[in-house]
Amino acid sequence: MALYAELHRHLGGSVVPRVLWRYFERHGQDSIAQFAEYGEFEEFYTRPRNTLDEYLELHTLVESVQTVETLPYFIYRLLRGAYVFENLAYLELRYTPYLRTPEHLSQTARIDKMAEIVEVVGKASHLPEYPIVTSQILCMHTRLPYEVNQAIVDLAVQNKQYVCAIDVAGGDRYYHERMAEWVSLYDYGRSQGLNTTGHLYETRDGCHPELLPYLMRIGHGIQIPLLFPELLKEIAQRGQCLEVCPTTYLKTGTLEDIRQLKLVFDRCFAAGVDIAICTDNAGLHNMRLPFEYENLLTYDIINFEQLQTCQNAAFRHAFAWPYNHPPTLLLDKVLKPSQNRVGLTSPAKV
Ligand SMILES: [Zn+2]
Repeated sequence: MALYAELHRHLGGSVVPRVLWRYFERHGQDSIAQFAEYGEFEEFYTRPRNTLDEYLELHTLVESVQTVETLPYFIYRLLRGAYVFENLAYLELRYTPYLRTPEHLSQTARIDKMAEIVEVVGKASHLPEYPIVTSQILCMHTRLPYEVNQAIVDLAVQNKQYVCAIDVAGGDRYYHERMAEWVSLYDYGRSQGLNTTGHLYETRDGCHPELLPYLMRIGHGIQIPLLFPELLKEIAQRGQCLEVCPTTYLKTGTLEDIRQLKLVFDRCFAAGVDIAICTDNAGLHNMRLPFEYENLLTYDIINFEQLQTCQNAAFRHAFAWPYNHPPTLLLDKVLKPSQNRVGLTSPAKV
C-alpha cells in the first residue's frame, strides 16, 4: 500500500468542478447562469488555455467565493477527496491570504484580516476522519504591492504552527521589473528561518537565475533542464528539488506534448536533481495525483523505479512531514508484523 505526498497544490485551483458547481447551485450565484448544464461548466472550467496569464485568470473565479466563511466548506471537500481518492498522507496547500480578504476593505484592514484566514485554513485542515498531515505555503503575488508581500512573509514567520514556507506566484514573466523586491523578501524570509519555494523557470519568460539561490525547492523549474541544463549541477549541489506538475504545462500552452517531459526527468536524474511530482491545480485539471503518476508511466516518460524515487523525494523535501522516512516503513510494521520480528518467535507458532 502506498501513501503519497503532494507538495504543490493551490487552494483555489484545487476545487474540483463538481464541488464548485454544487456550491454555486446551493448559493444561487450568477456565476453559472450562462451555463445550461453542468457539462458545459466543466468544459469551460477545465479546458486548456493558450497562455499562463489566461490560465491564472481562472483562479479569480474561485478566489471570489473562498472567504473566511466558506473556506471550511471547500477545504473539507478537498481533504475528503485527497484522502479517499488520492491516498495522500501529506499535503502542502498554497494560496495568497490577502486575496481571500474582502475587496471593499482598505489595504491595511485587509492585511489585518490575513491572520484570521491562516487560522481558519489551519483549523479546517485538521479533520480526524481524514487524517492527512497538512501545512500551508503562503504565496506572495506579482499583482500585490511590496507592503502586502512583506506582510505575507511576516505572517508566515508568526504562524509556524500552520505555515511551513513562502512562495511567489501570479505569473513568472512579471518578476523582472521588481527583482530587487523579490530578492529582499526572500532574503528576509530565509533570515527568519522560513522555508522557501517559488514559481520559477515554469515558462520561457520565467527564467530568473537571480532568485535561484534563495529557493529550497523550485516551483516547476522545467525550463532549467530543457533550456539551461548547465545549471543542474549547482541545483543538485544546493539540494534543490523541482516540483514538476505534468498536466499544467499542457493547460497553459507551455508544452505541446507531455512526452517533452522525458528530457526533464532524464536530465534531472542524470544530474542528481530530485523531482517531486505534483498536481498544481488538481481541480482545474480534473486530475488526481495517482493519475499524474500513471500518465507518466503510460507515456514512457519514467519507469516504476523512477516513480518511486520521485515519490520518496517528495517526502524527503516536504517542509512539514514529521518523520525521517516515508510512511511505507510505518505501514509495513502494521501490515506485516511477523516479518518485522525476524529472530523472534511468532505468536501464531507458539
Ligand atoms: Zn503553482
